[in-house]
Amino acid sequence: MKKFLMQYGAYLIRWQLSSPILAVVLIVFADTNTWLATVLANCIGGCLFFWIDRFIFKSVSKEPIWEIHEDCTCADCGEAGTGYRIIEWLRYDKRQDKEPQYRCSACRIVKMEEVCKRIKKL
Ligand SMILES: [Zn+2]
Repeated sequence: MKKFLMQYGAYLIRWQLSSPILAVVLIVFADTNTWLATVLANCIGGCLFFWIDRFIFKSVSKEPIWEIHEDCTCADCGEAGTGYRIIEWLRYDKRQDKEPQYRCSACRIVKMEEVCKRIKKL
């Protein structure tokens, strides 16, 4: 509930930041069509606030999120079989990893401990 209220408060403050953009664009384009100026202001605001909204509503996973693949080769010991990798855990984010490495069920524990130490240092 606290997280929700923090997000909601941040979003309401962010929402107020769009007012100056709308006002400035409507003043600058006062001689043109009001609807066109409003659409332009919303486009400018959308380009800016997309990133801010994305930051506000980004969820952080407190537990490791695993990706599991069949028929993998462990990156550490070379064992063939089911492969595991952590794709997200707190600020550790490997969702966009272009060369993902999978580990067997034994080696994934070692990797998880390594990631745990790394995220505590971040
Ligand atoms: Zn292994």
